[in-house]
Amino acid sequence: MACIFCQIAGGDVPSEIIYKDEEMVAFNDINPEAPVHILIVPKKHISSLNEAESNDAQLIGRLFLRAAKIAHDKRVDKGYRLVINVGREAGQTVDHLHIHLLGGRYLAWPPG
Ligand code: AMP
Ligand code: ZN
Repeated sequence: MACIFCQIAGGDVPSEIIYKDEEMVAFNDINPEAPVHILIVPKKHISSLNEAESNDAQLIGRLFLRAAKIAHDKRVDKGYRLVINVGREAGQTVDHLHIHLLGGRYLAWPPG
């Protein structure tokens, strides 16, 4: 069976979609850690950043540019954070590459 984010990208599992195009989807995190917590996800199944290849570079770049656009649209562009958890020890729980967009509250540094 396809992974949960492949199912969301394919429209087989419902989510609160923020943005969608032919190569990516962005939707609200089901367990938000901030007032704005959106996941930007490529439709292509890439298990983690460790599995990304050089021909994914432009796609990954566009995911980040879209995250910035969404941050602007959500009016958190004065201060937001983009996070990619890579591997279990960094808290990755869904094995499909995704960028977390967090904003709308003060974000401490360094993260835990
Ligand atoms: P990570 O721990 O970096 O792999 O992030 C996975 C994120 O996906 C977590 O923040 C979860 O809350 C979120 N998540 C898991 N399942 C869903 C879902 N069905 N819809 C929206 N967000 C989800
Ligand atoms: Zn997937």
